[in-house]
Amino acid sequence: MASTLTDRLSLLVKTMRGQARITESNVQDMLREVRMALLEADVALPVVRDFIARVKEKAMGQEVVGSLNPGQVLVSVVHKELAATMGEGVSDINLAAQPPAVILMAGLQGAGKTTTTAKLAKHLIEKRKKKVLTVSADVYRPAAIEQLKTVTAQAGAEWFPSAPDQKPHDIALAAIDYAKRHYFDVLLVDTAGRLAIDEALMAEIRDLHATLKPVETLFVVDAMQGQDAINTAKAFKEALPLTGIVLTKLDGDSRGGAALSVRSITGAPIKFAGVSEKIDGLEVFDGERHAGRVLG
Ligand code: GDP
Repeated sequence: MASTLTDRLSLLVKTMRGQARITESNVQDMLREVRMALLEADVALPVVRDFIARVKEKAMGQEVVGSLNPGQVLVSVVHKELAATMGEGVSDINLAAQPPAVILMAGLQGAGKTTTTAKLAKHLIEKRKKKVLTVSADVYRPAAIEQLKTVTAQAGAEWFPSAPDQKPHDIALAAIDYAKRHYFDVLLVDTAGRLAIDEALMAEIRDLHATLKPVETLFVVDAMQGQDAINTAKAFKEALPLTGIVLTKLDGDSRGGAALSVRSITGAPIKFAGVSEKIDGLEVFDGERHAGRVLG
């Protein structure tokens, strides 16, 4: 049985070969296939509905020209809309701030924040030639602070010590002060995650945001989270002015539908993709290429 969007759409292109025009009925056939394939790729239902509505509107206005058949025209509408929703082009980290440029990492526990903090440090050192400091504001899990220390060393960045008996707010101020006095270009701040959204966590990270005034607030989300990614994304978007998304664990076997969900819900660009557990497993996110993955 055809299951990927590409399979489904190519079957449709075949059945539409004899048809000359785009009609309400062949558009409906196509939309049904797109809907099923996106749900199978784990895109959240409300996001699928919006996507379908946009494709329908664009498809109905299309003329079939030259040697194309309606199926091919409709497929190209779907491809274009998918790439546009995912974000065209690539966007790197914004560092346009009085040094140190602060980057705040937000997300649930296990999303990959600490790993991504170190990967990003390495990226900024190697690709942007920056002097990078990391600090952990996770005062609930001493192991998380130690983990950041270890991975920061692997990245070749400097780690600023923090301890469980400190307040996140005080850690933030001390780290900024140290970064200023030692001429760091960038300060990466790893934060506490919880297993699920809770109000205390959101209040804490909002306070950190107000203290740090970060130039980037990155929401780190696990691509394997599928349908659940939408609720997490909503909660973080309401709590913080997100400037970008890092989609982790794209090396897993998910079809990456979470990208479409998270991007649609937050409106923030997906800046990076985590593609392995290793320190160099971070790629600048390419929306068009990822659209191809969701299409299957
Ligand atoms: P945190 O709780 O958000 O700080 O998450 P961690 O950084 O500790 O990551 C949780 C787990 O996910 C660890 O075992 C990481 O090695 C793993 N991880 C993080 N990013 C990726 C990724 O892009 N790919 C894979 N395969 N594993 C990842």
